Amino acid sequence: LFDPENYKALVESLPDGKLTYGLLTRAFVLINSTRSRIKIVDTLTNFLRTAIACDPPSLLPAVWLTTNDIGPPHEQTELGIGGSVISKALIKVGGLDQKGLRTLYNKYGDAGDAAFEAKVRQRTLQLRKPVPLTVKDVYSSLVKISQSKGTGSQEVKQRIVERLLVQSRGEEVRYLARTLVQHLRIGAVKTTMLIALSRAFLMTHPPDASDPAPNPPSTLSKVPKETKTEIFAAAEEIVKACFARCPNYNEIVPGLLTVGLAGLKDVCKLTVHTPLKPMLGSITRDLPEMLGRLGSREFTTEYKYDGQRAQIHCDEKGKVSIFSRHLENMTEKYPDLVALIPSIRGPNVTTFIMEGEVVAINSDTGDLKTFQTLASRGRKDVTIGTVQVNVCMFAFDLMQLNGEELLAKPFRERRKLLREEFVEVEKRFTWVKSLDATADDQDAVIEFFKGSLKEKCEGVMVKLLDNEIPEGDSGTLDADVTNLDTLVEEVQKKPSAKGKATKGKEIKKGGKRKPLLATYEPDKRLESWLKVKKDYDASTDTLDVIPIAGWHGMGRKSKWWSPILLAVRNPDTGSLEAVCKCMSGFTDTFYQEMKEKYSEDGENTTRTKKSYIEAPELHPNVWFEPQEVWEIVFADITLSPNYTSAIGLVSEERGLSLRFPRFLRKREDKSIEEASTSEDLAAMYRKQMSSEKPVGDAGDDG
Ligand code: ATP
Repeated sequence: LFDPENYKALVESLPDGKLTYGLLTRAFVLINSTRSRIKIVDTLTNFLRTAIACDPPSLLPAVWLTTNDIGPPHEQTELGIGGSVISKALIKVGGLDQKGLRTLYNKYGDAGDAAFEAKVRQRTLQLRKPVPLTVKDVYSSLVKISQSKGTGSQEVKQRIVERLLVQSRGEEVRYLARTLVQHLRIGAVKTTMLIALSRAFLMTHPPDASDPAPNPPSTLSKVPKETKTEIFAAAEEIVKACFARCPNYNEIVPGLLTVGLAGLKDVCKLTVHTPLKPMLGSITRDLPEMLGRLGSREFTTEYKYDGQRAQIHCDEKGKVSIFSRHLENMTEKYPDLVALIPSIRGPNVTTFIMEGEVVAINSDTGDLKTFQTLASRGRKDVTIGTVQVNVCMFAFDLMQLNGEELLAKPFRERRKLLREEFVEVEKRFTWVKSLDATADDQDAVIEFFKGSLKEKCEGVMVKLLDNEIPEGDSGTLDADVTNLDTLVEEVQKKPSAKGKATKGKEIKKGGKRKPLLATYEPDKRLESWLKVKKDYDASTDTLDVIPIAGWHGMGRKSKWWSPILLAVRNPDTGSLEAVCKCMSGFTDTFYQEMKEKYSEDGENTTRTKKSYIEAPELHPNVWFEPQEVWEIVFADITLSPNYTSAIGLVSEERGLSLRFPRFLRKREDKSIEEASTSEDLAAMYRKQMSSEKPVGDAGDDG
């Protein structure tokens, strides 16, 4: 049914032209059953095309259900249903008791699988055939759940959940329950969604009065396969760039439905009070590597403060919003910062979007405090009078000023405006400490790096100041795309649209330098922003992994979990892939805490492996509820016959594992969705191989 060549069969399968929840779950099942990224993208694309062609108002709900959200993170739309609501509903609908449900949950380790099983057992008792659920109905029910607040809201939520579960059938039950516990476990999220959306809109357009047939535009079916791939890449680039500026499907999807790919960038612009995705820094091992990578270009070296990244938005009326690195709204957390804004806003400033690091500070001495001190600050109901931990904002970038988007300006210009248009307030608002330099200033840069560590910073960020575009490079591809035909033309004119994907990365070919841009590139990790951290000074790479299971320790460690099984994330499949066992770097106190947190038969452990964990042939004594991220160091990465992490990325038969992994620290600032991915691991492996470090076989990795 989801064959890319035959999406019309999908269209015809819809009763009354309404997008059913059943069809969405069929897509989920297919996506879950494959590791092939091509198949995942195809399935999702076809599903979205069906929505565009038959039931455009259901497209947005379908996108939210697939990404397992009900709104963008900054709108803080949470379902707000505890496990007990779902359990109660399952007990009622599935005709179970508490014990029966617990047994099912223990058996499957997954709310969806338990719900599915419970409902299957119940099937014979169901007399009337329920009305099929539609995508719109499920989504609007979730919105209702999230909006229901105050007295009686629990009962309202309970009733909605029960109704949904009663109405759902077969696989719908499984995915509904997973949606309700906010763990859908399909890989078709984030980047895949953007790719599928871009393709779906290239291949289908919503019906309108003048052209009611939403067939694939003829232009696309005529072009050769290679050109088609490049057209896909170009469309993808447009959607991704728009989403990075305006990461909200509530804007992107209606934009696509009304103006299509061509006009999207005019609708999805930087907007005050809507956070954009932040630009990210690339890791370097140490200062010499950093200096080598930047060559003779002029750069600035800035302290890398150890606090929390903050994006501050301010409109003409002086209303302020503050967003975290992950686009959550933190305005309530920092009333002191909000109150500070009128004082820092220079006389010429009306609106702005600025970025910086908020750091805990001793407001008498001006000494910086650790991230842990900042983390101890309350998050909710903070008032200026109750602030216990004072903070200072160290500004480092300016993305919008007085309504003008500054992203395309080189950093030198953005920084100038940031410094000139804002006013310092002692120990509360200032600019990051910086040193402009070139590779010739090595000694000064080393001194500056040492200075950063003395002031409790994590190291330095190194940023390119000016654009470096070789002659003949015409800039971005999407500049003049007005419709599909011009997009095809543009692609055909370009020597290779694929080259665009490497824009901004310095790849040396025949000794020639590739362009390096000092523009602000939302959601990208480019070579124009490098970070040098003290941890990396010891010339070791680190990974952020998730502890997923433990074995009973031996001898002295028999009371604790040792070794502990660690995993990386596979964003394509939604699974966690075991990568190594770790038994070094832990203190006894840490072991003790781990044993208490993940106690046997406690709420954070299960006896059975969850189906989204990939750990073939491994039989730990308990499986942990994945919930934390650890930074680890290791000797090197090896191809492994036992572990399947990153399988298919560097070898078809073997996965990757780590030799001599050692625990460094907990990443309190990272959620498991931000742990390292199998692709990160594969990239490190490729880098290791290209630097020809000796590699051994995966042996006992403990
Ligand atoms: P890390 O492991 O370094 O925390 P990360 O994934 O959180 O990585 P990166 O983009 O790799 O984020 O590192 C940049 C982070 O450093 C920013 O998110 C910001 O919070 C912090 N930071 C501190 N000082 C600066 C600065 N001068 N310029 C940019 N970022 C800074």
